[in-house]
Parts: sequence; structure tokens; C-alpha cells
Amino acid sequence: MNGTKSFRRIVSIVSEIKRLTAELPSTEALEKVRRAYSGFPKVAELVAEAFIHDRLVGIYDRLLLELLIVERYDPPVRPALDPEFALALRLYSFDDIEVGRFLGYPSCCIESFVSDYRLFFDEEHLKELHEIKKAGLKVVLTAGFIPCSLYCEKAMVSGLLEHLDNPSQIMLLNDELKKMLPHSHSAYQSFYEFLS
Ligand SMILES: [Zn+2]
Repeated sequence: MNGTKSFRRIVSIVSEIKRLTAELPSTEALEKVRRAYSGFPKVAELVAEAFIHDRLVGIYDRLLLELLIVERYDPPVRPALDPEFALALRLYSFDDIEVGRFLGYPSCCIESFVSDYRLFFDEEHLKELHEIKKAGLKVVLTAGFIPCSLYCEKAMVSGLLEHLDNPSQIMLLNDELKKMLPHSHSAYQSFYEFLS
């Protein structure tokens, strides 16, 4: 489903960057990585540098483990990336637009986050949530992702948002990820956001 595809996309990017840094001299690898990922060159370079300086030892394996678990559940919405990965890269204090693109966020949602400073769920989201709840549905989102709207089609296609009548499978997945990937990032207690 969309969540698996969406998660696999990020792992493929990270794996490709890892491969390039292993095969090429550092300067050449950095140059190539910047060109290959022109939508988020600084993030790509950050990941490449982390591999070059061995700062992702063990963490890359956690990402692969997370992918294995995600594939087993094949959810419609992907979980947040392993917080240890984000911590090692200091990803969340980086350029929001580039990080959003790297994470596969749609441009409308990045725009709303960056330009309209909708950094949290606000009145507008709550109004939408109220309607969705009336239809007997619950909203599931990738933790850390704030959509431009709880109805954003692009976010749904990107495996970041869904309205579900029963999110119990995703709750199980969330619990398993928490158990298998314990971490020290205090701000991220959950891999998913459940709004109901
Ligand atoms: Zn959007």
C-alpha cells in the first residue's frame, strides 16, 4: 500500500547515497549526490557526509529493520522515520523545505507549513476533524507531518494521511516499532499521529 511504497522510497534514497559514498572518493560522491537529488541537495549531502564520517553506523541497520516491519504490515500510511536517524543527522533543525521534499511531503503541505507557519494542528484542521469524526472515521498521519488539509489528496497518495474506520492494524504496527526501535528522542514518542 501507499505507506510501504512511501517508506521504501526514503530507504532507497538513503541506500543509494550510502552506495555512492562507499564507491567514490568523498568529494566526487558529494558532488554526485547533490546532482542526483536536486530537490534536496543539502539533505542529500548531509546524509552522504554522515556515511563518510561513519555517523550512521548501526542506524542504517535500524532503518532497514523498520522497513522490514513496515513491509510486513503493508500500511496505507507510513510511520515516521526512526528518530535515531533524524537525531544523528539533526534533520529537524535543518531547512524545512528540503527536509519536506526528502520525506516525500507534497508541495502544498510544505508550503502551508513553511509559508503559513502551520506548524501544529490548528482550528482549520480541527474543523475538518470534526466532520471526519461525524462520518465515523479516524485520521491517521505519519508523526511529524502536518498536512495543508486533513483532506489533502496528495498526502493520501503519498502514504502520509488516511481516514480509517479501524486503525487497529496501524496501532499494532506503531507498538511493534516502539518495541523494536527504542530511542532517546523525547519529542517523538510515537511513529504515528492518531486524531479522533
Ligand atoms: Zn497538501
